[in-house]
Amino acid sequence: MSSDPIARCEERVASLAASSLARARDEGDLAVLLGGVWTIVEEELAAGRPAGSPAPACGPGCAACCTVNVGTLAIEGAVAAALLRRDVPAIELPTLAATLRAFHDGVRWLEDRERIAGRIACPFADAAGRCAIHAARPLACRSISSLDPAECRRALRELADDEPGLVRMDWLQKALNDAARVTLSEALAARGLDGRFRDVSGMTAAFLGDPGLVTAFLAGRRLPVE
Ligand code: SF4
Repeated sequence: MSSDPIARCEERVASLAASSLARARDEGDLAVLLGGVWTIVEEELAAGRPAGSPAPACGPGCAACCTVNVGTLAIEGAVAAALLRRDVPAIELPTLAATLRAFHDGVRWLEDRERIAGRIACPFADAAGRCAIHAARPLACRSISSLDPAECRRALRELADDEPGLVRMDWLQKALNDAARVTLSEALAARGLDGRFRDVSGMTAAFLGDPGLVTAFLAGRRLPVE
C-alpha cells in the first residue's frame, strides 16, 4: 500500500469498488459501497492533514458555490434518490423527479459561468443555504473545501465575468475527493457499467423517477441521462 495519501485512497477505493460491485444487487448495496468510499476519504484526510491546518469553512447554511454543475456518478444519484424517498412524501416524488429532470435539461449545456451569471442554483439548495441531500451529497460537493466563504463569493462574481480569482482551499480534502470520484468512475467502467458524470439533478431524477433503474444499471444498461 502506498505511503502517499492520495495514491493510497485510489488503491483503497479501487479495491472496495471492485469487490462491492461484483456482488451489488440493489441500492442498499450501492449505499454501503458509497459509505465505504466516504469513510476512506475521511480516514485519509484525518491521517494526512497537517497538524494545525485551518478547518474548511464549508457547512450547512452556506450554499455560495451551489451554482455550478455538479458531476455526479450513477451510484451517487441512486443513493441520493433513496434518501429523498425516505424524506419526501411518496405522493410528491413523481413531481419532484419531473422538476429535477426539467432542471437538468435546462442546464445540461450551460457552462459554470453561465449558471453563475444567471443565478441558477442547484435545486437541492433551499433559501437558507441548506442541502436537501446533504447526507448523500456527491463527492464533487465534498471536494469543495474553501477556507473563506467571502473568497468563494468574490471568485464566483469574477467567474461570471471570465476572470475568477483564487480561493484558498484545503488542498488534501479536494484532492482526495477528486481521486475517489475518478477511481469510482473507472471501477464502474471496468465492470461494463455506466461510469459517466452528469449533473446531480439529472442523475438523481433518473433514479427517483424509475425505482427499477438500479437493477438495469447494475445489469450494464446505459442510463437515460444525457
Ligand atoms: S447537491 Fe447540495 S451541496 Fe451539492 S451543489 Fe447541490 S445543494 Fe450544493
